[in-house]
Amino acid sequence: MRTVLAPSDVLPLTCTRSGTCCHGKDIRITPWELARLAQARGLAPRAFREQFTEDAGTRLRLAAPGWRGLPACSQYDPASGCTVHAARPLACRLYPLGREVQGGEVRIIHEGAAFPCLDGCPEVSDLPRLTVATYLDGQGTGPFAVARDAYLELSQDLAEAAFTLVFDGGVGSGSDRRWANAWRVAVEGGPSVWPVVLGPDWFDRVTIPEIDIATDTGRWRELHGEAVLGLATEAAPAVACVRLFASALLLFQAVGGEAAVMGRRWLAQAGV
Ligand code: SF4
Repeated sequence: MRTVLAPSDVLPLTCTRSGTCCHGKDIRITPWELARLAQARGLAPRAFREQFTEDAGTRLRLAAPGWRGLPACSQYDPASGCTVHAARPLACRLYPLGREVQGGEVRIIHEGAAFPCLDGCPEVSDLPRLTVATYLDGQGTGPFAVARDAYLELSQDLAEAAFTLVFDGGVGSGSDRRWANAWRVAVEGGPSVWPVVLGPDWFDRVTIPEIDIATDTGRWRELHGEAVLGLATEAAPAVACVRLFASALLLFQAVGGEAAVMGRRWLAQAGV
């Protein structure tokens, strides 16, 4: 069950800071968030990606079991809580709420019939209640939501560029169908094959771009798009269309989407 919320809805949204919600969760991160998390840990983005992420840099790694035997987030310290609190990703800022974007419309939701906080922290019902708008504002979701939406758009742009190479750039008109097979592998193989499909240079360019962390979010998205599309112009079209397609899948996964579902839709559109 999914409940769609209005900004004025009042809910038990005062956090107890018990950390129960830092266990057993699927926390997706965009490259913009990865850069901020790395900075918060005093690490280079590459080191953070290798040490603390999985699924091709799109998900925070889980660590040792903690609350209810569930694995704790790799950024969680049982003694002090979140070690990257100021840089925590959008998913953590939203929790226990979720955010959906469909056709340009943003919806704030919560999953399940019961309000999620009441499971891990039943004492939350004794604390002051907040409106959804006040809670989201206090969590500083604004720039993180902008970055998330920018990466959804970039994912779509990269998929479109891959389609353009196939259908207008001549790749799809020949008898060589290796591109189609590689698209299928990228969808069915999932995150574990994306670094292989992309190769090291593309994988780095997509997940840990060399952009100054102080860059404005909109400009960051432009620079990141240019960096990936720049690599595409350097590669043969049959290679570039595969790497653009895998990059689009990776970024769709990073923003919280189901890459396998979207990938199969793209395969169907391409007649693969
Ligand atoms: S990043 Fe921080 S707030 Fe988010 S799940 Fe991990 S420990 Fe918790």
